[in-house]
Amino acid sequence: MTAAAVPADSDFPRAGAGAPLRGLLPAELAAWVTAAGGPAYRAEQIFRWLHGQAVETADQMVNVPPALRQALAEAHPLRPLTTDLVQTARDGTRKLRWRTHDGRAIESVLIPDEDEERNRLTLCVSSQVGCALDCRFCATATLGFGRHLGADEIVEQIYRATALAGRRPTNLVFMGMGEPLHNYDNLTRALALLEHPWGAAFSPRRITVSTAGLVSGIDKLAAAKSVAGQGSSSNVAISLNATTDEVRDRIMPINKRWPIAALLEAARRFPLSHGRRVTFEYVMLGGVNDSDADADRLPGLLRGIPSKVNLIPWNGFAGPEFVRPPAERIRSFQERLRAASVAVYIRSPRGDDIDAACGQLAARTLEGSQRPPATDSAAQSAAPSTRSAAAAGGLATIRVGPWPPTTS
Ligand code: SAH
Repeated sequence: MTAAAVPADSDFPRAGAGAPLRGLLPAELAAWVTAAGGPAYRAEQIFRWLHGQAVETADQMVNVPPALRQALAEAHPLRPLTTDLVQTARDGTRKLRWRTHDGRAIESVLIPDEDEERNRLTLCVSSQVGCALDCRFCATATLGFGRHLGADEIVEQIYRATALAGRRPTNLVFMGMGEPLHNYDNLTRALALLEHPWGAAFSPRRITVSTAGLVSGIDKLAAAKSVAGQGSSSNVAISLNATTDEVRDRIMPINKRWPIAALLEAARRFPLSHGRRVTFEYVMLGGVNDSDADADRLPGLLRGIPSKVNLIPWNGFAGPEFVRPPAERIRSFQERLRAASVAVYIRSPRGDDIDAACGQLAARTLEGSQRPPATDSAAQSAAPSTRSAAAAGGLATIRVGPWPPTTS
């Protein structure tokens, strides 16, 4: 597809009648409460239940009068995600597959830090069902575009993953299925909900929004950020993945709409708080973007942008004809960048044995079936128990490795 065919920004119902309850901002809840004849402070109570306690039904809001709870549930439905599948990889990474109220499958990934001392737990969340951008090396692209996720569905991934993990993620990255800036309104609404002190109160410094390079979205984020007290100051990651337009056009069709120079200008314009940097992701594709010449072009492109580069060895899946470069090639690519004073790190693939690594998320909705995808050998071997547990509405857990992970 061409970038010009990217669908409109958002199909999330506005805060009017019928808007999903967990997507409402405090001011919107207050307006509803007041219109319903309740005192304004109920909005804070309700918000705390929805985002601090992550209740699953309005009935659980025990300090809210039953009549108000009922009116609220009627006016604004909850659209819960159901847990479809949990898989644990050998390295402790856990892939969580959710089903939306309309039967779509989406995935999040819980990634414990390799260094246990740091005790970091990163949650990678999805912003769309499928994706419209058609990056050639990405598994989600093979699904095509399903729909945008509502802000309620975005934040619910985080609350449910927190419950499953038994602890709050320390870091949130929008690097799951979908292009977050293509779903700008719901993304920014979700950030406002997640950062609100009445709710989960995530620090924006612990949140990273990753984009394939939607310049209009990057500029919108920047503009929102510059209005004091509005907009999120979360981090931005840009999936650069090539050093020439010729190659980037080929692997990321969005580049035809916003080529490298336009994208880097947007990165240059982006307002950064003190000490913050733009992250550039660079998926290493053997023989495509991993040459010495690429390594030598990159520092010039990034000049003037406070930045760091993450090299991501390509994670394979059935279909495209890419190869991951040999480890040696990746290291020498890194060395060349280092020699040019670029802050550059190699991201080790996490959860690749359960298809949970970068770019491998491609949950398909299986009509009339709870079977995991056929490509997933670990899931296949456990399919019978999965089916019965999922059919009973229970939690299907497949353990491939220990949890919490042990270091070896
Ligand atoms: N649409 C957003 C977020 C989702 S992709 C974006 O493009 O940034 C998250 C990251 O995974 C991106 O850096 C992308 O380049 C990378 N990625 C996609 N497919 C991959 C694969 N098969 N192997 C390794 N990284 C991949």
